[in-house]
Amino acid sequence: MDLLIGVDARCGMPDTGYSVLDEDYKRHRAKGTRFKKIMADTHEYFMELALEEAKIAAQIGEVPVGAILVSDNGQILSATHNQTITLADPTAHAEILALRKAALEINNYRLLNTTLYVTVEPCIMCMGAIVHARISHVVFGTTDPKWGAAGSLYNYAEDERLNHRVETTAGVCAQDCRRLMQDFFRAKRD
Ligand SMILES: [Zn+2]
Repeated sequence: MDLLIGVDARCGMPDTGYSVLDEDYKRHRAKGTRFKKIMADTHEYFMELALEEAKIAAQIGEVPVGAILVSDNGQILSATHNQTITLADPTAHAEILALRKAALEINNYRLLNTTLYVTVEPCIMCMGAIVHARISHVVFGTTDPKWGAAGSLYNYAEDERLNHRVETTAGVCAQDCRRLMQDFFRAKRD
């Protein structure tokens, strides 16, 4: 499939259900803004997968947060969800588990050129780990004013005192991500 031709023909709207292959990625990156548009749609695709993970968390009584780590050629390196209660581990947030799983998978503690999709803004612990791992880009759904460290409470993504900058994109599928959290906590209260 020649994605670029498809995009041109339909005024920037890509086909749905495509995968970002190596060659497509390079071609789109060369095209600048058009690539950004493609990535915007890709963000939603991966966030949907993160939402599926978050729903699994909700089903087992965990705070519904899901995370997907994707390499720059569109390959999913890990997909996981919050499991702090299940694992009796305060560090078992979706993001931490996604980082651990992917690092083992590629046998490298640096997760260079990757994008982390997470349904809720990463907390201070997770943003710390994201900076350590040198993740390039964090895409999240809803903000977290109580814990968020990608712009809400703190902004570790752009703190010049740290030796790594993380690009952030907020608000992808935000409504679905927020609703999942609200429904979960509402059900707990009732
Ligand atoms: Zn966290």
